[in-house]
Amino acid sequence: MIKPPVVAIYGASDSGKTELVVNLVKDFVEEGLKICTVKHSPGEFSLDVEGKDTWRHREAGSRLTVLATEVETAFLVPEKMKLEEIGEIVDGFGDYDLVIAEGYKGAEVPKIAVGEIEPRCCTLRVYDGDFDALKEEIRELLEVKEIEAKLPGLDCGRCGYDSCNGLSLAIYNGEKDLSHCEVREQRTVNLEVNGERVPLENFPASFVEGGLKGMLGALKGVDEEIDRISLEIWDDS
Ligand code: SF4
Repeated sequence: MIKPPVVAIYGASDSGKTELVVNLVKDFVEEGLKICTVKHSPGEFSLDVEGKDTWRHREAGSRLTVLATEVETAFLVPEKMKLEEIGEIVDGFGDYDLVIAEGYKGAEVPKIAVGEIEPRCCTLRVYDGDFDALKEEIRELLEVKEIEAKLPGLDCGRCGYDSCNGLSLAIYNGEKDLSHCEVREQRTVNLEVNGERVPLENFPASFVEGGLKGMLGALKGVDEEIDRISLEIWDDS
């Protein structure tokens, strides 16, 4: 399941995080990327106002309240969410190329540290004012994700890397190519559920393929030579 890549910009307050996020958004939008931003605000701040209609909906037990006006639509979820969870959800709002988050120093996503702060896990770079180098690093992240989307997502280690991301990086660096993923080479079945690819090991893949081809072989009017099978199942129950 490949969602839009998420990168978080973190640092102490007044370190210039917002300025950096704004400049990145402007540049990437100008280059044609579709960007989503997330701002983390510490403390128990709420957009909802006690006594207002949306507040009353929530108090009544609504798990998601949507405030829709003539100019914007706000989705109010009455719980704290991890950045990784937000990254999954925003995918349903549009086809974003990149999610840029401000804050979230503890999130397990690629991060950029700004100003005087102890670098945390997953920090790609401590920002030193070289804006072009930072953009290049983020572009590299996008390209590696694009390669990763072509791999099965099993993280089985058969290619010699711990994860598909490891091989993606090696391919990006020109050290390997897609043929180094033997799972991908042998795979003939692509299974998607609700639009999301489901990683399949060789055994279930050949089980699905063999079962379908066997069934089709017994049906009248089906070509003996099968190049491609497409099957869609809707569950309205
Ligand atoms: S062999 Fe393929 S599926 Fe397994 S970790 Fe490597 S790239 Fe991913």
